[in-house]
Amino acid sequence: MLLQAKQWQQIGRALFMAAGATGTNAELVAESLVGNNLAGHDSHGVIRYIQYLQAIEKGQVDPASTPTIVKETPSSTLVDGNWTFGQVGARIAMRKAIEKAKTQGIAISALTRCYHIGRLGEYSEMAYDAGMIAMVTVGGLGGGEARASGGVAPYGGARYAFGTNPISFGFPAGSQPPVLSDFATSAVAAGKVKLARAKGEPLPPNCILDGEGKPTTDAEDYFKGGVLMAFGGHKGYALAVVAELFGQALTGGDKGRNSEGKGSGSYMVAGSVFIVVDTGIFRPREEYAAAADAIIQRVKAIPPAVGFKEVLLPGEPEQRSRVKALREGVSLPEKSWESIREFAGKYKVDLAAFVG
Ligand code: NAD
Repeated sequence: MLLQAKQWQQIGRALFMAAGATGTNAELVAESLVGNNLAGHDSHGVIRYIQYLQAIEKGQVDPASTPTIVKETPSSTLVDGNWTFGQVGARIAMRKAIEKAKTQGIAISALTRCYHIGRLGEYSEMAYDAGMIAMVTVGGLGGGEARASGGVAPYGGARYAFGTNPISFGFPAGSQPPVLSDFATSAVAAGKVKLARAKGEPLPPNCILDGEGKPTTDAEDYFKGGVLMAFGGHKGYALAVVAELFGQALTGGDKGRNSEGKGSGSYMVAGSVFIVVDTGIFRPREEYAAAADAIIQRVKAIPPAVGFKEVLLPGEPEQRSRVKALREGVSLPEKSWESIREFAGKYKVDLAAFVG
């Protein structure tokens, strides 16, 4: 199904409201998920309407609640997501960190007790749009020991220890486009393993271990007690540990376990951290901007290696995708569109009003 971003947003808003979300929450989540399609991350886009609606039905998300600030200092903010959509609390957390970094030079926010926060790059983009540097990470994903299989193994380990523990950095520049590094610390997303299994194709090496801890490229092994591997061997694993400590130990995400059923599942003991730094913290902002531009230009000027057309900076794929998707629209696989139509039928949402 191919529709314009605006149409997908209207559909999402209507579905989430019909499922009990406030207008504000519904609007924000639909806008955020469609924004992820525009950035080229379809795995975090409209396809998630289905997962989120199912989570509402299971009581894992309270679509009508509002996050609250539970602890605050001049340079820090702790946000309790109150088990609503993670995007709602994440935007509050990032807005607070930006505001405080403007006066303090550096600020940190944390968010706990909420559902999936989506694409971390969205929040790093908020920071660089405000002229600030950001780091965002999530740890404690996967529901801790509640998860029987799947997840990511520590380097050298044969069983689950983490979720996909993503990490994102955003840097504004001067005349050059901003830089956005944003990725999971797993070698491959679980969704990609599902896809390989459906197609009967092998996975690339070093992506998964089977139930006995043996490396395998057979996607089927993942579903028989296998695990994902961290990207980049011990280095990606080391980064996953950082995300886990920041996201769970520092924030208090581990306390989510006493949540009376809400947030049960993958996000029960997760937490997110948002660190924002003023580019003028050590030198005049114009000097930072000129130096950032020089680095970007130096990297872009490197001639392409065999098999490549050009060197891209992190963030360029997202910027290019946005231009294309705004022009050509956002498509959703037929099977997922079927599920959305089923939800629309159930919640009496007239899709024809948006599809035309
Ligand atoms: P990915 O492998 O697609 O990597 C994306 C990053 O690599 C971006 O910074 C992109 O600009 C950069 N990049 C891609 N191609 C490039 C190239 N040719 N040259 C230079 N840079 C390039 O990311 P992923 O690991 O599949 O993660 C996808 C998204 O999923 C991320 O936005 C992440 O935040 C999100 N995620 C969220 C959660 C959560 O729980 N909220 C968990 C996992 C992942």
